[in-house]
Amino acid sequence: MPHAVPGWFDHVRCPLILTDADVTTALALNEESLRLFALAGPAAPCALSTLLGASAAGVVTAMRGPEPLPPRIVEARVAGEARALGLALSRLEDGRHLLTIHDLMAEYRAADRLSALEADIQEIMETLPVGVEIYDGEGNCLFANSHGAAVVGYSINELINLDDWWPRAYPDPAYRAAAMAAWEAGVRSARADLDHVHMADWMVTCKDGSQKMIHFRLRSLGDNLILVYWDVTEHRQLVHQLRVLADTDDLTGLGNRRRFLAESEAVLRTAREAGTPVALLMIDLDFFKAINDHFGHAVGDLMLRDVADKCRRTLREQDLLARLGGEEFAALLPGVGEAEALRVAQTLRNFVAAAPMMIEGRSIPATVSIGVALLDGQAARGNASTSGELSDLLRRADEALYAAKRAGRNRVMRDEGVPGIA
Ligand code: GH3
Ligand code: MG
Ligand code: MG
Repeated sequence: MPHAVPGWFDHVRCPLILTDADVTTALALNEESLRLFALAGPAAPCALSTLLGASAAGVVTAMRGPEPLPPRIVEARVAGEARALGLALSRLEDGRHLLTIHDLMAEYRAADRLSALEADIQEIMETLPVGVEIYDGEGNCLFANSHGAAVVGYSINELINLDDWWPRAYPDPAYRAAAMAAWEAGVRSARADLDHVHMADWMVTCKDGSQKMIHFRLRSLGDNLILVYWDVTEHRQLVHQLRVLADTDDLTGLGNRRRFLAESEAVLRTAREAGTPVALLMIDLDFFKAINDHFGHAVGDLMLRDVADKCRRTLREQDLLARLGGEEFAALLPGVGEAEALRVAQTLRNFVAAAPMMIEGRSIPATVSIGVALLDGQAARGNASTSGELSDLLRRADEALYAAKRAGRNRVMRDEGVPGIA
């Protein structure tokens, strides 16, 4: 005879069994129960023990009474398989009971999988060649891999507290204040924009007192902050060395054309802001081809070095000097007007002419021609860009140089065809 079941019985998303008043017979199973016990269709009524096994069924029967006993966890055989079930029994008004079942095994398995995954992730974090730290919303460290502390020579326990980190890593109070302010700003922007990755490089003091340049990356993950960092000291040094190499003329050690153009733009920008003049000297060795032909290329090289040295010694610290190519040099003199520029150019011309290079007791004479172009700090500069201004200056100095060549060499010529006599 069919047993009346409550209307909601089949809609509950967990296994339910309606039992008789004795709690020995299952009168009805809802759909989740049928699925749990791998039953194709209604199997009830049947003995509870055929569903749960005798032992678990005995426990359930003992739970019956007017006052429901607390839920129990039992080992049961379900569809031939050992399961841990959470069982709760409640008495209905008509004396029948409702058994609610929690399949704990499924939950245990999911939890096991999750903790296995967590262990795997922790192991991966430990093997990463970078420091990884995770902070919660209050700034507490939830995780830190040991590589992170090792980067700066500490053990993980020595750095677990951020209050310990700051004074150790940044002993200089001013630098520390800047690093802390940057960190706080980074945290704010990472929290405000989940896609934002805050990046910064800081010089960190290691436990042994050495200094390392550390690259930090910070971003939000939910409420947490993930910090990843690694040592970039060598990388930065290498980049710096490469940059110097790429910008340096290896014969004379002067800057090359590339560096000269880049640095000149900055000089022109500053001069424009300050309204101060700038002078450009274009310096070219006279009849250098003949020197090469006569004394050999190696001597020519030595002469290029010698002239570079004479330029260096004539100019001031703040002047830009470069070998633009071949036997041509350029000097940019910030804050220098016409009279001073011509005086410097003549001094250099005289120096080269009057102090010939000596090789193995032989004196090898040389002369230079110099073209001078000027940028008047007071003149209206209009809307010309600094790069336009620079190429105009270079062109004018070049023209002055070739005017000096045409006029007989070993001389200084100002732009606009004015002889540079100072
Ligand atoms: P001018 O007075 O008109 O400037 O005549 P110049 O002979 O100095 O000029 P030209 O441009 O005819 O010749 C420049 C020479 O410089 C030709 C080239 O072989 C030489 N040269 C360029 N670079 C180097 C270098 O690195 N080392 C040496 N030794 N010679 C170089
Ligand atoms: Mg020449
Ligand atoms: Mg030349």
